[in-house]
Amino acid sequence: MSKIPSQYLVLATELSQYSHRVWERGYVVANGGNLSIKISENMILSTPTMESKGELKPEDMVISDFSGQRVYGDKSASTEILSHLAFYRANSRAKAIIHTHPPYTCSFAFTDSLPYEYMCAESALWLGSVCVIPYIQPGSSLLANEIERLSTESLVILMKNHGLMTAGETLKDAWWRCEVMENNCKISHLIMSRGDRATNINKIDE
Ligand SMILES: [Zn+2]
Repeated sequence: MSKIPSQYLVLATELSQYSHRVWERGYVVANGGNLSIKISENMILSTPTMESKGELKPEDMVISDFSGQRVYGDKSASTEILSHLAFYRANSRAKAIIHTHPPYTCSFAFTDSLPYEYMCAESALWLGSVCVIPYIQPGSSLLANEIERLSTESLVILMKNHGLMTAGETLKDAWWRCEVMENNCKISHLIMSRGDRATNINKIDE
């Protein structure tokens, strides 16, 4: 397979920088998580499968078409790009996606409890309506179908017993949604652990 064309190296560099950031923040471990950018109406640039996000280089990235077939790159894309492709199809505002397993978000995703949704202006601005998807095997077309069906109005997806997907116009927007969601879950955890309740907020509806 041929290397990714040089015109995409700037975006591939940005993708590697955000990959390092999610790993350094502890939002992914081992080979977990994946990031992508929509580079045209029929192609995405993504991180490869089975690699630590902490060590990725721009030349490790993969270009796939919207059927999930690799077009350029020496490495294979993750099977989870099916979920990314579904999110891009469902929501035209999604142009970059970050999928992570942040601990406080996962502490809600792995139980029946849900975080508070709108505790402050920042969470209202960046989270909008959070889409909650029941557990379906990661990387499966069944999960991709549910994401495509349910995420038309959302840029934040909480996947039960799995993790978080955030999207935006740019990788920075997707990253900010990821940070705000994790922070929101951390604050929800602190409030609930104290046996307290947040005031004047709504909880995410499942
Ligand atoms: Zn995953």
